[in-house]
Amino acid sequence: MSDIYLKLVNTPVGKTAAQSLGLPSPAPLKRLKRVDQPFIEGDVLIGAGPGAKAVATVGAIIGASPATMLHASGQTTLADSALAGNKAKALDLTSDVNGKFSALVFDATGLKGPQDLRALYDFFHPTIRKLAANGRVLVIGQDPHTCRKAPQAAAQQALEGFVRSVGKEVGKKGSTANLIWIAPNAENQLDSSVRFFLSARSAYVSGQVVRIGKADKAKAGNPVAPLAGKVALVTGASRGIGASIAETLARDGATVIGLDIPPAMEELHKVTDAIKGKALACDITDEKAPKLIADFIAKETSGVDLVIHNAGITRDKTLGNMPEHFWDMTIAVNLTAEELIDEELMSRELLRNNGRIVCISSISGIAGNFGQTNYSCAKSGVIGYVEAMAKQLKNGVTINAIAPGFIETQMTAAMPFTIREAGRRMNSLSQGGQPVDVAEAIAWYCSPASAGVNGNVVRVCGQSLIGK
Ligand code: NAD
Repeated sequence: MSDIYLKLVNTPVGKTAAQSLGLPSPAPLKRLKRVDQPFIEGDVLIGAGPGAKAVATVGAIIGASPATMLHASGQTTLADSALAGNKAKALDLTSDVNGKFSALVFDATGLKGPQDLRALYDFFHPTIRKLAANGRVLVIGQDPHTCRKAPQAAAQQALEGFVRSVGKEVGKKGSTANLIWIAPNAENQLDSSVRFFLSARSAYVSGQVVRIGKADKAKAGNPVAPLAGKVALVTGASRGIGASIAETLARDGATVIGLDIPPAMEELHKVTDAIKGKALACDITDEKAPKLIADFIAKETSGVDLVIHNAGITRDKTLGNMPEHFWDMTIAVNLTAEELIDEELMSRELLRNNGRIVCISSISGIAGNFGQTNYSCAKSGVIGYVEAMAKQLKNGVTINAIAPGFIETQMTAAMPFTIREAGRRMNSLSQGGQPVDVAEAIAWYCSPASAGVNGNVVRVCGQSLIGK
């Protein structure tokens, strides 16, 4: 689907016209071009607040970038390991900062109370204007739920308001701001998330907060094919977001089983044939569907590692006008089927150890939406399901959700013009996302290195103004 306004406004005439009329001027987002490109290019500035605990780990992850620079405030001493192996140097923000940075990264894990929040101002005030277009702001804090003292919990929670506001300030240049909260001693789980949030893969993810817990440290995998040897089931894979998820997981090395309703088989085969995957015709609301899917997996691959519950429908009507079958179908496809499929796969031990389940919610499930009581109800239910299951799953299996905002697909192309335009523009990046933006976030959840990422709901919505 194409956003003609975005193209027009990025021509010289269009830019001038938009500025003089006070219209939004969305910046074109830089997405991944080659799978083997460095996850970040250009200079990165890393700052550390008092008592910072993750800076050495973060420095080591970013170490390959051409010129990583570090700044420490308060009593933090930068560990040698953060500086080793790259061109990093400690610098004075008031005199040494020249040129533009592709990312500003700040370790706030050691903030103990409101008095320490000044470190945010000290680091970002002199540097935020030096963030390049399509830049990244990433703050790392300690999960407030794990803070024993109230002032510490207050300081860590404060990071959320800070980061969400920064996202709104930097979005007009296509830049993003996100927050990672880690559990104590979970620094070794940061790798996949730091790489994702600093890379072009997270182009449409802004204003998000991710919790990372303790888990076994993943072995370093193949950087260009991290999912090699994995089998993925993707529902609703014949088009839109599902087709992009199938292609992205296959790009990362997975063998994909694409599933869709029987009338979509021709389209589904186009997708699965191109990625050497398998196609399964199945209506997930059929009472025999869980068994059919499990039998197919047992026969074809003897197990599955990645289960992506993408299939979804909308049947919009205001509540008083909504026919019964609109309600029933929407709950059945978007929520009940996911639970029944997982139950069958797990009871037959077809979901392998260290598996990944990803469910697709929606910002409508967070904020509600006019005419979507059925859809919002189901998509909120998805969040409840994910949060509860995250506490129960064993054998290294994780479950997370993505809540897309406005993504350019056939689903959103069918919206009335004014609602579609409002959906596109009402976010910090002033544009809709692409299916691949959702797919890249799913690939990050699915990475073997994301073992500590569990029970999260990340919005891929350009920081939509609707909802939290
Ligand atoms: P889409 O309508 O283009 O694709 C949905 C796919 O699901 C289709 O291929 C369809 O045939 C399949 N499907 C529907 N019912 C099925 C059933 N009973 N059994 C098997 N397959 C079935 O939608 P999309 O825009 O690509 O959305 C994908 C997911 O993302 C959905 O869960 C949707 O609710 C969610 N979402 C999309 C947006 C957006 O802006 N596009 C926003 C929020 C959430």
